[in-house]
Amino acid sequence: MCPGVLATHEAADGALARIRLPGGALRPEQAVALAACAEGLADGRIHLTSRANLQLRAVRDVDALVTRLAAAGLLPSPAHERIRNVLASPLSGIAGGVRDVRDLVGRLDAALCGASDLTDLPGRFLFALDDGRGDVAAGSTAPEADLCWRAVTSDTGAILAAGVDTGLRVPPDRAVAALVAGARAFDLVRGAAWRLREIDPAPVVEAMRTEAMRTEAGGTGTGDTVEPGEWTSAPPPRVGPVEDATGAVAAVVAAPRFGELTAGTLGAIGRAGYAITVTPWRTVVVHDTSTEPATDRYCEVGGHADLVVDPADPLVGVSACIGAPHCAKSHADVRADAAAVLGSEPGTGTGEAGTTAGPGLAAHFAGCSRRCGRPGGSHIDVVAAEGGYHVGGTFVGLDRVAEALSAQAHTREGLQ
Ligand code: SF4
Repeated sequence: MCPGVLATHEAADGALARIRLPGGALRPEQAVALAACAEGLADGRIHLTSRANLQLRAVRDVDALVTRLAAAGLLPSPAHERIRNVLASPLSGIAGGVRDVRDLVGRLDAALCGASDLTDLPGRFLFALDDGRGDVAAGSTAPEADLCWRAVTSDTGAILAAGVDTGLRVPPDRAVAALVAGARAFDLVRGAAWRLREIDPAPVVEAMRTEAMRTEAGGTGTGDTVEPGEWTSAPPPRVGPVEDATGAVAAVVAAPRFGELTAGTLGAIGRAGYAITVTPWRTVVVHDTSTEPATDRYCEVGGHADLVVDPADPLVGVSACIGAPHCAKSHADVRADAAAVLGSEPGTGTGEAGTTAGPGLAAHFAGCSRRCGRPGGSHIDVVAAEGGYHVGGTFVGLDRVAEALSAQAHTREGLQ
């Protein structure tokens, strides 16, 4: 069962609580509250997931955590806490995109929380709202959504079911109703299935079509069906400053080392008045929500040792499971080994091994063959075993991992 805040998972290091953040959005005061929870009730860190959610590990007092998260507005409906799985284009409304989807995220979340018949929707069921750039819709490196609305123009969007364009075109103001109708139909026909791709999607698509065709007055005319479209997908936002259409810095994309933020960093970002959008690629978009932003804003974001903002840093693109000592199955402390192999310790800069393996290398370090948390895009698996690691399937000792990674990276480059 997917963990939540009310139903935690017992890991080797204690209770693990997963906090759903629809659209990955965290307001400044929520960041401060969550940082205090991590510091006072858990292991002092906030762990990012591949679904743009957050996890606290080694939680000592689950009841106190529930109370504090609810007070911060992070548990709007206890009965629905595990079904609020909504991905959205993380830079929507900040830079690029065809149609800002942030209002749709809020409306979809409110509709889900208000649907008393959807509390049994599986915790893995995933919605996506793509602002037209194609970073969270099918074909991207984000996890595949069961139901997705993808903006085609500012006035209409495509409905995708299990990654396939249904041909159904729905305006933004009908998108939430259509997606909720689809989720409801799935819950009725799913049997033991957890994901839409496990069943025939026809009744789900039909329910969305019917809903999209309904108007407030009960007539018809807002949903169109066309030939399925073909669109390009967009890569994840690049680490570093993000410029808006005027060339001004509108946000900073930062990569917490191995997808974990310290409570100190998250609290400082929140106290500085910055909002955070967690992405499905274990990065965060830091953006200023004040109406009169300072001219030197974002300068301090790069000052946190656990946040990578330099696209040339060897740890950009490198992920790792939690490993030892937190997971009993792990053969190694994979995060420490990865940092040593790539020569990047907090505050020490890039070492020789990092230069060998090269920045921008996409690799996932895992403590065992389950490879938890591996990214969706192309990458090299580095899997711990007794006495060393399997690098892309080839076993080497720890002292030769950097060399093996470099060789595999060059081979892949040559094949492209
Ligand atoms: S990949 Fe293995 S070692 Fe790592 S967290 Fe998953 S089960 Fe644990």
